[in-house]
Amino acid sequence: MNVLVINCGSSSLKYQLINMNDESVLAKGLVERIGIEGSVLKHEKTGMDKVVIQEPMKDHKDAINHVLTALVDANYGAVKSLNEVDAVGHRVVHGGEKFADSVLITDEVIKAMKECIELAPLHNPPNIIGIEACQELLPSVPMVGVFDTAFHQTMPPVSYIYPLPYELYEELGIRRYGFHGTSHKYVSERVEALTGKELEGMKIITCHLGNGASLTAIKDGKSFDTSMGMTPLEGLVMGTRCGDIDPAIVTFLMNKKNMTAEQVDNLMNKKSGVLGISGVSSDFRDIEGAADEGNTRAQLALDKFAYTVKKYIGSYAAAMGGVDVLVFTAGLGENSAPARKEVCSGLEFLGVEIDDAKNNTRGKEAEISKDNSKVKVFVIPTNEELMIARDTKALAHK
Ligand code: AMP
Repeated sequence: MNVLVINCGSSSLKYQLINMNDESVLAKGLVERIGIEGSVLKHEKTGMDKVVIQEPMKDHKDAINHVLTALVDANYGAVKSLNEVDAVGHRVVHGGEKFADSVLITDEVIKAMKECIELAPLHNPPNIIGIEACQELLPSVPMVGVFDTAFHQTMPPVSYIYPLPYELYEELGIRRYGFHGTSHKYVSERVEALTGKELEGMKIITCHLGNGASLTAIKDGKSFDTSMGMTPLEGLVMGTRCGDIDPAIVTFLMNKKNMTAEQVDNLMNKKSGVLGISGVSSDFRDIEGAADEGNTRAQLALDKFAYTVKKYIGSYAAAMGGVDVLVFTAGLGENSAPARKEVCSGLEFLGVEIDDAKNNTRGKEAEISKDNSKVKVFVIPTNEELMIARDTKALAHK
């Protein structure tokens, strides 16, 4: 069985075609600048060089059509015909309270997804456009929706409620939802495989540290608390997002600088985080480089980032009454030994002890804690596409 995984952004689209018999990736790629001049498809059949196709792609349907054509191309395609695409799994950012699990997409599901648009106005519309485009192009193929928020639907009310008038939760759904759920779930399931112990009875803190970053406290295999909130802006310091700040800063800026709500939103989402503090870049590699050359603001950005992650780890250990396993994943978590070391330094009181030699690793599964460390620390590369493909296979079979 082959599953096509689609992740549609506002002007981009990522895809992977996965053979679910052995979970191997047959082909993958990326379309950028959809609907903008300079549309480009970068397609890679496993084992072959990447091909770059530059053609105008006026919308997502056009882009998906180009992807499907590439997948069956005689030279660099991965299958002979589209009949070999058995199901399509779509990443959907926000499922609100409506979706606690992945679903087979029906007209009713699309309607419910549309009702979640106001919770994620930037992310959900392109996700839905991608689904509708695939339905038109592959009308007899089952489609499955996999939500970033679903894994966190197990959070107890004390984790998800905001201290605002309760009616706002009832009327408008203002509560914490959490994101990166597919990634947190995937790495926690890998913990079960790597330790050979059941998740039941285990307390895990998963650190998804990439351009977007979030931590999740996982108790008995279920999300107990997570750092992102109603939107992916809350929580940690990120590449360009501010994470937790005093909410009064919003109105202060509007009054003092005559900024509109939209301008403040843009500042907090696109100009803040480690980019805002360092003034250098949102990419941790650039910031680490600048800090090494003595840039003090770059160093402050790195310090603030690691300090915030450390504080969240401490608070989640307190919330769960302890921690057994700590996991690092995503771009920075998988690749930056200095960032992992900085986050863990000072956590010895919790029983976290990193082995410097073992920590000198990148991009592959590894245990990086000392043999006698009370808390086991792992690097686990995330694989959201595989998670989406697995759910898609399970639901499409039904
Ligand atoms: P992601 O959003 O998971 O793709 O992560 C992207 C981020 O990971 C980039 O912005 C980089 O800052 C960071 N990253 C990737 N590789 C490295 C590395 N070798 N060292 C430090 N940071 C890295």
